[in-house]
Amino acid sequence: MTEHLVDPDVPRDLHAFIAGLPKAELHVHHVGSASPRIVSELAARHPDSMVPTDPEALVDYFTFTDFAHFIQVYLSVVDLIRTPEDVRLLTYEVARDMARQQVRYAELTITPYSSTRRGIDERAFMDAIEDARKTAEADFGTVLRWCFDIPGEAGLESAEETARLATDDRLRPEGLVSFGLGGPEIGVARPQFKPYFDRAIAAGLHSVPHAGETTGPQTVWDALTHLRAERIGHGTSSAQDPKLLAHLAERRIPLEVCPTSNIATRAVRTLDEHPIKEFTRAGVLVTINSDDPPMFGTDLNNEYAVAARLLGLDERGLADLAKNAVEAAFLDEPGKARIRDEIDTYTSSWLAAS
Ligand SMILES: [Zn+2]
Repeated sequence: MTEHLVDPDVPRDLHAFIAGLPKAELHVHHVGSASPRIVSELAARHPDSMVPTDPEALVDYFTFTDFAHFIQVYLSVVDLIRTPEDVRLLTYEVARDMARQQVRYAELTITPYSSTRRGIDERAFMDAIEDARKTAEADFGTVLRWCFDIPGEAGLESAEETARLATDDRLRPEGLVSFGLGGPEIGVARPQFKPYFDRAIAAGLHSVPHAGETTGPQTVWDALTHLRAERIGHGTSSAQDPKLLAHLAERRIPLEVCPTSNIATRAVRTLDEHPIKEFTRAGVLVTINSDDPPMFGTDLNNEYAVAARLLGLDERGLADLAKNAVEAAFLDEPGKARIRDEIDTYTSSWLAAS
């Protein structure tokens, strides 16, 4: 457990319970998961970049003054991913960091457009992520699946390219399960992406756009209506619309909640004002996620600790929260049952010992 991530309002033994709890993560970005350890390895490969190679200096480098600074740092890390081998290393090392937190299954959001646009060969890119996925599963036991997302700020050209990469049978990687839309929401209306989501859905992919992170509940409605969203990335502003909450609850459409990220991006002012309680009270299926963990100074275990505090959860409540993510995963039933059983076995033996 990283010492700075110990929430003083959460009992230490609950932190220890979380650290060992088997988990699934559904909303976490590929480049955004590059920890100082990984960035330092990548920066050492590309000494001409401005990114420091010393992990301690990197902790300062990752301390953001504002959102614009965050974007600047994020893009400097994107710029370190220049070769298929960089892609492979990043993906494999992210899985190692996940395994250390007992993540058994993760849907990693990848933006292939950022790499192919930078000149990485598309075939080599797909081979690199697939090689990392298979090796990571064999080495760490963590099962990875992909969500290819459109970087909304890059416009419809990037949507076309992402849809092509996700649906072309000769390119589409075996681990791909879903299609997403990220980036800023202001000025990037969801409905314009309908044709690309239609193509992805027709090709058998699940629809998981970000919506309602920095704009109002109408964006979530748009994602549901036009993009046929099966889960919503963030969906924070849904709390402003009781009809929407009732709809999400009734249709069992999960929200991918990332509490610390919402504070870092100023989508929510303080953790105590986070609407997660409204979501659970309305019966919405809430999953806990870390988004861009090292960049927001968090990790998945810390997000569970935050949720425990905000929702007043004990061990059983946390186990149920972990099972929500399993339920909402695009994983087959035997795979889900395996993780659920692991969660139950772990929780009962923990409670029996305490
Ligand atoms: Zn995100």
